[in-house]
Amino acid sequence: SGTTRPVRILQYVQRCANHGDALGVISAIDSFCSTVEWAMNVGDKKGEILDSVVLETRPRWVLELGTYCGYSTVRIARLLPPGARLVTIEMNPHYAQVAKEMIQHAGLEAQSSSASSPCSQAEQTSSNATIPPSSHQLRWRLQEALLYTTLHCLQLPLQLFSRTPQNPFTSSPLLTPTERQQGSQTCKVELLVGSSSVLIPQLKKKLDIEKFDLVFIDHWKVSYLPDTKLLEECGLLTTGSVLLADNVVCPGAPDYLQYVRNSPQYQSQYFQSYLEYLQVEDGLEKSVFLG
Ligand code: SAM
Ligand code: MG
Repeated sequence: SGTTRPVRILQYVQRCANHGDALGVISAIDSFCSTVEWAMNVGDKKGEILDSVVLETRPRWVLELGTYCGYSTVRIARLLPPGARLVTIEMNPHYAQVAKEMIQHAGLEAQSSSASSPCSQAEQTSSNATIPPSSHQLRWRLQEALLYTTLHCLQLPLQLFSRTPQNPFTSSPLLTPTERQQGSQTCKVELLVGSSSVLIPQLKKKLDIEKFDLVFIDHWKVSYLPDTKLLEECGLLTTGSVLLADNVVCPGAPDYLQYVRNSPQYQSQYFQSYLEYLQVEDGLEKSVFLG
């Protein structure tokens, strides 16, 4: 059809959710991805666990690794108190552009951005209709979920296939400094486009961050452990910082689990749930950094 899945998800949201309705955006994505096309959002079931961890942690600074279309970004940002900030990192520029518009549609972003849209139109309707899937679509959805799972289980170094931006901070931040100033009242989310391993060491200087109270880890599974160690090395964690890692069972991140469960520096707990939009076990691992 000439569009990408993230764009189709965005277009559906723009049709079905009112501007500024973060919960409407979340429900529209869940509805689309459970009935039309599967996608790798944390999803509704694990999303509830994510919500409760955000609410109990009451973070001032949040880091998200892996934005994709911005589903979990919106989920987290809507629960943040005034003054809290969410930094989300995505290395794929196309996904990042979609996420930027998703975040704007949810009203969690300053309205002054002038960047071009990957979607030509955003017709507003008030309906929250769900589209029933055809058997072909269902089969395709399952095949894709399997492929995703297999790729990750084989631990293919998928990063190798992704474009690495030259200068991640000038490539495409969600807001220009002027936009950031103009939208400072409502702007909670900062989307950085680039690889986490390049961006994490730059965060303190570039964003004036001390420590993260909560880190949602949901990028490629082979990067969970090296990026956790990088966060430690860069002094971005403090006593009580919470790491919440998605997909620790499916596709799985065994080296990461082994580390947080056995290191005396973490107190770790597993939350059993289901893989997004499927009846397959998956879960989140919550690990509190003890310093
Ligand atoms: N957190 C999202 C949600 O629940 O809505 C889903 C994120 S998706 C599972 C993983 C994303 O991480 C992909 O969009 C991929 O491009 C991105 N990614 C993978 N490795 C990355 C890295 N090292 N740095 C930045 N982004 C990365
Ligand atoms: Mg995930």
